[in-house]
Order: sequence, then structure tokens, then C-alpha cells
Amino acid sequence: METQTQRKIIHVDMDAFYVSVEMRDNPALKGLPVVVGGSPQSRGVVAAASYEARRFGIHSAMPCSRAARLCPDLVFLAPDFNKYCAVSSQIQAIFRRYTDLVEPLSLDEAYLDVTRNHMGNPSATWIAREIRESIRTSTGLTASAGVAPNKFLAKVASEQNKPDGLFVIPPENVAEFVRGLPLASVPGIGRATQEKLSTLGLKTCGDMQALQAGELEFHFGKRGLWFHQVCRGIDDRPVVSERVKKSVSVEDTFSRDLDEPSQVREKLAELCRNLSVRLRKSGVRGRTITLKLRRPDFLTITRSRTISIYIDDAETLYAETLRLFQLSGMKGEKLRLLGVGLSNLDNDIQGPSGNQLCFPWGLPA
Ligand SMILES: [Mg+2]
Repeated sequence: METQTQRKIIHVDMDAFYVSVEMRDNPALKGLPVVVGGSPQSRGVVAAASYEARRFGIHSAMPCSRAARLCPDLVFLAPDFNKYCAVSSQIQAIFRRYTDLVEPLSLDEAYLDVTRNHMGNPSATWIAREIRESIRTSTGLTASAGVAPNKFLAKVASEQNKPDGLFVIPPENVAEFVRGLPLASVPGIGRATQEKLSTLGLKTCGDMQALQAGELEFHFGKRGLWFHQVCRGIDDRPVVSERVKKSVSVEDTFSRDLDEPSQVREKLAELCRNLSVRLRKSGVRGRTITLKLRRPDFLTITRSRTISIYIDDAETLYAETLRLFQLSGMKGEKLRLLGVGLSNLDNDIQGPSGNQLCFPWGLPA
């Protein structure tokens, strides 16, 4: 570790991106609770919520029907992805003035490694300031940024002073910062994991530091080893500029919950056919099949299995998926969503890079 140069990573995250774009283009929306997403009658979810809407407890990924109940005056807007893509390209161009090591996470969020940068500027904080300013002048929108020695901390930092904020975690502050960091704010720790952690008496990264790697692995598998690192502020993941597609998946939310096993089998077969088409279009095969199941109460589970050969055909996908379903413990439950995915892909080649800026990992939900 000591021999490595200290890295300088920036995480830039646009504030309430889709909604902010809509408000910029229609000032009459300013100050109103607004969401971009499906209509309240649909089973769609909120893709983005204005800060006014968030005050009602509305957040992204929440079903629109629920959002409508929380705030009867909520304004629903249909997404205009062409517009968001155009703004995203503008932002990406600003990032690339500083470094080629830009890793977009979505249309409105990216990691930048500015350890060495085109400006020869040794201050990542200075660069983050300039980027936020350029974004404001060229798009009329605000972005928040976090500056830190690694991706994990940079992402946590960009959340600290949101919206329109900047937060810096210099290397010498890392130890103290992580000690007090609530585990809930660690990216990747969802509600279920959080609950499990708190039954173990763990609330902060500092609490977690008391556990051995082996104990964490016992409770959380591979993720436990990752937790062991991040709770100490360690994250060696590089910023990867051209991300190779890591998985291909399809899923479907049903307007009426499935409750017959025969319906589930039929739907799974259909999803596997669609997935196979997608795989063949991308020219990739994979070895790890993942099944995703969601009950009407939103309890969601995924089950995966890795096989010894690379596949892309609907029949094998279906056979594997069905087996996962039978072992899932969800047989006979009502289901509102089914998804099938394939990862561990055989591609070291890149996909068509022309469109990558727009939807590198598929449309946001
Ligand atoms: Mg954002």
C-alpha cells in the first residue's frame, strides 16, 4: 500500500437529475413536488424525485401509486431520455477535459481518477470545484461532488453535502471519517443487510472494524470480505473508463400478480427467450444464471448458479432458471416480478461504444 501513489478520485453526482432537467426547461415546476417516472395509475416506479417531493418521503424506485398517496398534489412527468442523454454527453465532455479515466455509473453519475490529469493540477478539490462550476454554466444544473482517495469514499463524500455540495475526505482524515460512518450510508448495504448488521450490534464502520474477516465472511459470504475492507476505508477498485458489459438481464413486472406455478413457468420461458435474443445480439455467452423474484410485498430474492459452460440458448437458460425457481423457496408464492440474467460473460471485447454514454447498463428502472 505505502509504495503506491495516493490516488485522487472524484465522484460527481447530478442533483435530482431528471427532475432538475425538467424544472430547468419548465420554470413553472420550480418549488413543486415533482417526480419523473410512470403514471400514478401504472405499476411503474419513480425514476427521480424533486427535493420538494422528497420531503413527503418520496424517493426513487418507489411505486408511483404509493408516491401519489403520500403527496396528492404530486406532479408526474414522463421521462424524456433523449434530453437526459444530451445533457449527460455535455457533462461527460466536461469530465474528459480533466481525465480519460471516467467511469460513468449512470447518466448522471461518474467516477473520475484525477491522480494524473490533463491540467497537471495536483489538487483534486480544485478540479472538483471547476467541474461543478462548468456544469452549472454549461447546463444550468447543479452537481454534487466528493473527493477522496478511493471510489467508495468519494461516493460517500458526494452524498454528504447534497444538493449542490462539495465534500472532501483527505487521506489523513480517512481513519476518523470511516470510524463514525453509519453502515447505512455504505453503498451496497441495503435495508435487509442493515437489519442483519444491527442484530449483530453493528451500526457504524467503526463497530464493524472489531470483526475478523472470517466472521464477516461467515455472516455475509464474499460481501463480508468487502465489508472488512471498506469499513477501514480501503477500496482498491480502479476507475474503469470503458466498462465491459458485465451482465445481460431481462425482467418483467406484472399488472396482475402471478400465482399459478404454470404461469410462472410460462413467463420464465418467455423471459429466457428474450434474454437469449439479447445475448445473441450482443454476441456474448455467460456461465452464471440469476433468477430474481419479487413478491407483492416487495420482498425480493435472487438465486444464482454458475455452470461449467458458456451458454446463450433459451432452452438451457430455461432449464437452469426453472431449477433455481424450484430451489428458491418461493414456489407457490404470489409474484409481482420475475427476472432472469446471465453474467460471467465471455466478452473481453467491448460492445458498440457509440451509444455507451447513454445507457451503459440499460435504462434506469
Ligand atoms: Mg444523481
